[in-house]
Amino acid sequence: MTYLRIKIKVKGLVQGVGFRPFVFNLARSLDLRGFVKNTSEGVVIEIEGKNAGVFLERLRSEKPALSDIESIDIEKLPECGFEGFTILPSEDNGSITPVSPDISVCNDCLSELLDHMDRRYLYPFINCTNCGPRYSITRAIPYDRPNTTMLRFKMCHDCSREYQDPEDRRFHAQADACPLCGPRLSFQIKNPLFKGYEGEEPISSAIRLLKAGGIVAVKGLGGFHIACDAENKDAVTLLRERKQRTNKPFAMMAPDMDTVRGFCHVTDAEAQLMISRRRPIVLLKKKPDCILPEGVAPKNRCLGFMLPYTPLHHLLFFYPERDGEGAGRPNFRCLIMTSGNLSEEPIIHENEAATEGLAGIADAFLLHNRDIFMRVDDSVIRANFFIRRSRGYVPEAIALGETGPEVLGVGADLKNTFTLTRDAYAIPSQHIGDMGNFETLKFFEETLENLKSLYRINPIAIACDMHPGYYSTRWAEAQPLEGLKVQHHHAHVASVMAEAGLKNKVIGIALDGSGYGTDGNIWGSEFLIADLNGFKRLCHFNYMALPGGEMAIREPWRIALGWLQEVTGGDALQYIERIGFLNHYGEERIKNVLRLVELPEFTPCSSGAGRLFDAVAAITGITDTNTYEAEAATALESCAAEGIAEDYPVDIKFADPMVVDFSFTLLRILEEMTSGTGREIISARFHNTIITAIIRVVNKLHSLTGIRDVVISGGVFQNLYIAERVFERLKGDGFRVYCNRRMPPNDANISLGQAYILRERLRQ
Ligand code: ZN
Ligand code: ZN
Ligand code: FE
Repeated sequence: MTYLRIKIKVKGLVQGVGFRPFVFNLARSLDLRGFVKNTSEGVVIEIEGKNAGVFLERLRSEKPALSDIESIDIEKLPECGFEGFTILPSEDNGSITPVSPDISVCNDCLSELLDHMDRRYLYPFINCTNCGPRYSITRAIPYDRPNTTMLRFKMCHDCSREYQDPEDRRFHAQADACPLCGPRLSFQIKNPLFKGYEGEEPISSAIRLLKAGGIVAVKGLGGFHIACDAENKDAVTLLRERKQRTNKPFAMMAPDMDTVRGFCHVTDAEAQLMISRRRPIVLLKKKPDCILPEGVAPKNRCLGFMLPYTPLHHLLFFYPERDGEGAGRPNFRCLIMTSGNLSEEPIIHENEAATEGLAGIADAFLLHNRDIFMRVDDSVIRANFFIRRSRGYVPEAIALGETGPEVLGVGADLKNTFTLTRDAYAIPSQHIGDMGNFETLKFFEETLENLKSLYRINPIAIACDMHPGYYSTRWAEAQPLEGLKVQHHHAHVASVMAEAGLKNKVIGIALDGSGYGTDGNIWGSEFLIADLNGFKRLCHFNYMALPGGEMAIREPWRIALGWLQEVTGGDALQYIERIGFLNHYGEERIKNVLRLVELPEFTPCSSGAGRLFDAVAAITGITDTNTYEAEAATALESCAAEGIAEDYPVDIKFADPMVVDFSFTLLRILEEMTSGTGREIISARFHNTIITAIIRVVNKLHSLTGIRDVVISGGVFQNLYIAERVFERLKGDGFRVYCNRRMPPNDANISLGQAYILRERLRQ
């Protein structure tokens, strides 16, 4: 009896996730003959035999946990008489295929890691087909060992036996290794104070040094971390000093969920996210009795936690103590694990660059010799919203629906990412960072080259921001390709449209710190009627003076003063004593700032919503400086009381464009401060005022246009107090509300919006 030959093409995330061994074992168990192989398009299978139908069913229902099938194409062909079932070498035919993001160590590997009978006992590079490094070590597709940084490690006898055995969990695990043949750790001490900690196992030396309050740079999966014991207040303070990082929160790692729950409130959804194989940093609400020093995240209601995701992380926590003391308990309850970089520069990923660049920060270095090809920072998530989308998520593609041309969006200058498109997909890069330095620009270019080659994309046009001072804009202008300049807030709105597949006109709300407007002013509180062809600015918040420009953004009390001067008709001095400014800043400085306000050349104006938050944070005395982006706004949100429903008056001027004027809001805040209302209450009422203003404007725009699709984006929507309530109230008013789900609401989404707009124009 003859059977048809069936050719099956599986597309999606099917490489480097154990798909071929799964197919191999399934086919053999069903007595099917044929082959399976990786191609650049996905996985191709041909089978002959009577159980082909069962095979197809089980292919879908039993697929490996890490795989993600997008489509299965089936073609019937005449029988050709295969003998047995084989795995054929990978074939490269030049079309698209996703590369898997890096994945946290799996439970099977973890139990081997801590099993003293296993040959990989305590081996920090243990991995298998279901876990381990991917994107960070892949130089080219297809994902095969010679195309990764594992190329230099020749497999030992035992490892290659596993690698070739289809029944083994490490069958074709490209990063497979063992203590005999694989990468190794090393330990270097830089600070002479810690001499004497050297000599034993690298990992136990690092643990001892950390326990003694030292700071250790640890080479990780996508780059270096700088670690110290988070419970040691002096170590945390020292790290802040050495890293010259005043207030920006540090990310932390705890050994398990129970320990995290001791420090923070954790919802079920947050716990799911933390234990997922993507292992992002999740921002969690701090418990009132949290024992960690305030220095881990000053004036912040949230703490950023992640769980160990590499075998090395697990060993830092669970490496057995030789002396038996504290046996069974983790070595630490909490480690600071902050990115190993110099202020605004990208994360460091090479041993030499680290031991030189981080020498002033770290007392010692825990290194290894498996190269990181593509650096990728930890991802950060807060309540289902990305703050940063990197490790564990990149280079996953975002589906755009219809196919379109290949283009590049270069993004914004802060929190930069870029986005490539191809076919029906957008591929956003990992977090690149702040473009104002040479190292970041280099990182941008190396990542761009890498993603272009992994996905075989050759952009035919480039989109960039309109800001003439952006480095990203200048970089785009220097390329020999057709270009399109996209207004910053239009790009924010378009990024959500890309994620949701919207093309029709929407009411777009983009609230952020600053973006270059079409009139040359700084915008940042924009209510647009927009589609992919353009936009009209129908409303914005009142412009505020920034006395001293950039200086005012770093020192928001200057903005507060300028605002006070304007709202009181030049009578700010009457109020400043009342709100404590006079004592705090002194008459001299205050008069200087008030003089600056009169000089337009030193005092640009901005409609950035972020500046409003800055000013209120300063007036209420919550915080008066921004040592990192949105620090004052974060502190203001952190202090808002729960369960407050009232808001302050706000004046919407129905002109073209409409202007939302918060003068009355400020006057009421001043009154309440005089009458002794707590800043927690004032903060909540101020937040409510912003929300009410948004709802009123949207309803007005709806009555003008009839549009019911509302898009919200921009860094202000990282503020959960605002985002959640705006979302709920607009839905309650019958609007369809869309926000960024797969990209952060902040400037990281600009590149996606740019690319989507450009691609659509070219499609037409
Ligand atoms: Zn594993
Ligand atoms: Zn080996
Ligand atoms: Fe922005």
